Amino acid sequence: QPVLAVVGRPNVGKSTLVNRILGRREAVVQDTPGVTRDRVAYDAQWAGRRFTLVDTGGWEPSATGLQASVAAQAELAMKTADAVLVVVDASVGATATDEAVAKVLRRSKRPVLLAANKVDDERLMSDVASLWSLGLGEPYPVSALHGRSSGDLLDAIVNALPEAPREGAVVAGPRRVALVGKPNVGKSSLLNKLTGEQRSVVDSVAGTTVDPVDSLVELDGQVWRFVDTAGLRKRVHTASGAEYYASLRTKAAIDSSEVVIVLLDASEPLSEQDLRVLTSVVESGRACVLALNKWDLVDEDRRYQLEKELDRGLVRVTWAERVNISALTGRAVRKLAPSLRTALSSWDQRVPTGQLNSWLSELIAATPPPVRGGKQPKVLFATQAGIRPPTLVLFTTGFLEAGYRRFIERKFRERFGFEGSPVRINVRVRE
Ligand code: GDP
Repeated sequence: QPVLAVVGRPNVGKSTLVNRILGRREAVVQDTPGVTRDRVAYDAQWAGRRFTLVDTGGWEPSATGLQASVAAQAELAMKTADAVLVVVDASVGATATDEAVAKVLRRSKRPVLLAANKVDDERLMSDVASLWSLGLGEPYPVSALHGRSSGDLLDAIVNALPEAPREGAVVAGPRRVALVGKPNVGKSSLLNKLTGEQRSVVDSVAGTTVDPVDSLVELDGQVWRFVDTAGLRKRVHTASGAEYYASLRTKAAIDSSEVVIVLLDASEPLSEQDLRVLTSVVESGRACVLALNKWDLVDEDRRYQLEKELDRGLVRVTWAERVNISALTGRAVRKLAPSLRTALSSWDQRVPTGQLNSWLSELIAATPPPVRGGKQPKVLFATQAGIRPPTLVLFTTGFLEAGYRRFIERKFRERFGFEGSPVRINVRVRE
């Protein structure tokens, strides 16, 4: 989701305008603390377009003076954001500090919008026109306090921001499940178990080929669409090149699914092929449930061995729930449904930007990123840029080591859950 940074010298009514844009009154100035104390990020939305709004906050005059610190903030805003909104007080006109900000922003490669605030009265319109002199294009007259014209400004903002990929568009109908695993792990047995018990409810969905491609399965009061099951139903176990085709088929099924059930054979050692399947799932970004099949064959000794194998083999999917089942006896197959639901709701989950940043600022204050090349990278703020899979973007002043990113992911999961779903963490270094 694109980022809009709001800059302006103190007292121009920036916070009031931010709240006006956010469309909520209660957030006024008692900001959720940002990652650094003077930066606060929120989720905003206008005309169906979402963006992250970053309030670069109270600019204290520094040792080098107000102008210098304001200019430095404008510099940072330019680097961090996809567009910059600069707020000036039209009732005062352009001050030397505003000029300093404008000077910095005129170099911006990204769009800059100019809000002329405190235009509570038509008589101020001539003052608004004088703000063209800042060289930042058309000044948008607004009255943050009274809400005047902020619609025009918001239209201009969303037009200036890059189009975010439309995400989370609700796919109608049952949620899509892929059933994958190496040959003979029990995929067709499980599908038959799931469908066999409820012939009346279950129907096949016509695909483009002669064969029905997907199966509708009712499980725990909910209908699921098991994708690409034609081969499973017919128990096609061809000989030559089978593994290659099986892996293509696996990839295709994963791609058309939202959540994947990975079947593992609990009675046998975890194999290379199992790990390849797991890697495909992790790379796909789909939600995932691990089903340990053939549990009827697992005894005490085997269970002990299995735990050790899983510890080693499942490091990349420690977030996935495990269900011990038997496709043969039907043991615990219904328990797949709650795990599928959990995984999908995690996959769909979004943490609001304010909440994310107040959590992250505390985490980072307690455990800052390791110093690299003599420099301490700073995390400026974060936003959850997407769902399906949940994707965080951290805006930083330097590279974050993989170990530290994993630490953030682990803590993020401790705080917000996300069982059954991968979480992606992208770092955008700006500076
Ligand atoms: P697929 O290749 O993954 O579709 O595997 P199949 O469903 O064809 O199963 C392969 C073999 O494993 C068959 O002989 C099944 O009867 C057997 N099998 C599947 N699930 C179980 C289970 O839970 N327990 C036991 N003991 N055997 C199973």
